[in-house]
Amino acid sequence: MKARKTTIGLILCGALLTAIGCGGQRTANMETTKMETTQTEKWNGIFPKGDRAPADWFTGTVWLHMLAQKTGGDEYGIGSVTFEPGARSNWHTHPAGQTLVVIDGQGLYQERGQKIRTINKGETIVCDPNIEHWHGATPNTRMTHIAITNDKGAGNVTWLKPVTDEEYKVGR
Ligand code: MN
Repeated sequence: MKARKTTIGLILCGALLTAIGCGGQRTANMETTKMETTQTEKWNGIFPKGDRAPADWFTGTVWLHMLAQKTGGDEYGIGSVTFEPGARSNWHTHPAGQTLVVIDGQGLYQERGQKIRTINKGETIVCDPNIEHWHGATPNTRMTHIAITNDKGAGNVTWLKPVTDEEYKVGR
């Protein structure tokens, strides 16, 4: 009886190890990827973090995950954008406007000539067409927003100069 229990135990153990083995390996790979991509904090977002956004248009580390591409029938595209601490977009305009919905963390938003605004999880920012502005993280906190960017045949963004360290600090 004891021997039989041991056998069953070993079989169960083997099955468990096989399961953990597969899962474990996958987890290990995912952890490796996470470590490579998050840099500062563990990723706990609603949506995948996505891919690195082009360095030409951003300062620091920014991630973009498209939620909906603009199609023939739509006048907008939707993306989840994550800014690591200190990261921000260049100055830019949207020919047809943009709505930002902050879904995690705390960040910054500024329109040309205005003070830098702190923006928090749960806030919505409506940016009118052709208003020069930038958005990003604070120096110490990560921020994720959904960006709903209108596109009425004029493209959806016109990129301008980077936000300098000076501009990033001034006016807060
Ligand atoms: Mn914008």
